[in-house]
Amino acid sequence: MKALLIIDVQNDFLPPNGSLAVPKGDEIVNPILSLIHDSQQDWHRVVMTRDWHPKNHISFAKRHGQEPYSSITYKSPRPGDSSTQEGTLWPVHCVQNTRGSQLADPLLKETYKNHYKIVDKGFLSDREYYSAFNDIWDFHKTELNDYLKKHHITQVYVVGLALDFCVKNTAISAAKLGYETIILKDYTRAINSDEESMEKLKKELEEHNIKLQ
Ligand SMILES: [Zn+2]
Repeated sequence: MKALLIIDVQNDFLPPNGSLAVPKGDEIVNPILSLIHDSQQDWHRVVMTRDWHPKNHISFAKRHGQEPYSSITYKSPRPGDSSTQEGTLWPVHCVQNTRGSQLADPLLKETYKNHYKIVDKGFLSDREYYSAFNDIWDFHKTELNDYLKKHHITQVYVVGLALDFCVKNTAISAAKLGYETIILKDYTRAINSDEESMEKLKKELEEHNIKLQ
């Protein structure tokens, strides 16, 4: 059984007005809509994910008095755990229940007509999330894995934004959880799409047995 995972196609990630617009992200919205309805695909389930932050989320540069896109060393949110991770600080984006956090209009309209599962991530303020399955520490799990298991999904196709952050990390989580994982490249866009970044990304996906097609 196969599922289509549509990652974070939300207004704030879309040019021209999104606060954290992914270059050319708007180009994939209508193609994704067609993909949902592609009769040759036979999706057993379609899931749309949302980055869904409280106003003071830890990934917002403003909260730290820093410039957007500067780096940060995150400390584990677990008491007594001294591990750290390098991260990037972002402009304020996808604040819950704002226009910016809404799904792109064509997808939003689609959710009025058909039942699609919506999975939120990033709602705990003290930790960053990229994967739609879990936070960057792999402590908090979203409902995504349980949902896919409940519906006997074994194969996931990942599309959306941004290829080099949330799409990549969702795919890596899926592969680690044992799903056959495919990223459909034409239905994604990256924040850093230069050749060097793309080569690095391809290697990383290969290491996790993720197909990029
Ligand atoms: Zn975010």
